[in-house]
Amino acid sequence: MPAPPKPPGTVLIPAARIRRRIRELARDITKHYQGRPLTVVGLMNGSLFFLVDLLRHLPPDTQIECWRVYSYKGRRSTGSIRGLDHHAGDYRGRHVLIIDDILDTGLTVYHVSRKIRQNGARSVKLCVLLDKKRKRRAPAKAHWVGFPIADRFVIGYGLDLDHAYRTLPDVRALD
Ligand code: 5GP
Ligand code: MG
Repeated sequence: MPAPPKPPGTVLIPAARIRRRIRELARDITKHYQGRPLTVVGLMNGSLFFLVDLLRHLPPDTQIECWRVYSYKGRRSTGSIRGLDHHAGDYRGRHVLIIDDILDTGLTVYHVSRKIRQNGARSVKLCVLLDKKRKRRAPAKAHWVGFPIADRFVIGYGLDLDHAYRTLPDVRALD
């Protein structure tokens, strides 16, 4: 059988390091929300693996919603968010934790948080696997960050390049 093609770029964060960091994040998050009704909103598809791996360590009464929103085309942010209208949900009385793969321009999370607040959430916080050091285009701050990274385009562990490479176990940087 031919060997699978070598994935592009170089490993930035190996899978084992991601696993360890997720356990730490889950401990912190669990402690923070102790005794409060928590709904996790995962942004698809990028946060798919991060969301599931994190949820395995969160309390059993955690509620889960998945929102599908888009902003990237190829390696560039388009600057507009599509897909928000498909998501309603009543968050009255609930504390909402948004989970995303990466915080970049901040636009996605800014619009999603606003909508969740409009839908009655008592609090809205954000946990991202990666926080890109770059100028934000919208006010957005992550309360929990897996790894701060430089402004490079990354793939793997849920992150895609035109829909490919999400299944790679490590986060890789393209140059
Ligand atoms: P923002 O709205 O903060 O600019 O972008 C957030 C979304 O853009 C992320 O959820 C992710 O889907 C996508 N994104 C931003 N930077 C990268 C990157 O380096 N690689 C990939 N694959 N997606 C990215
Ligand atoms: Mg995304």
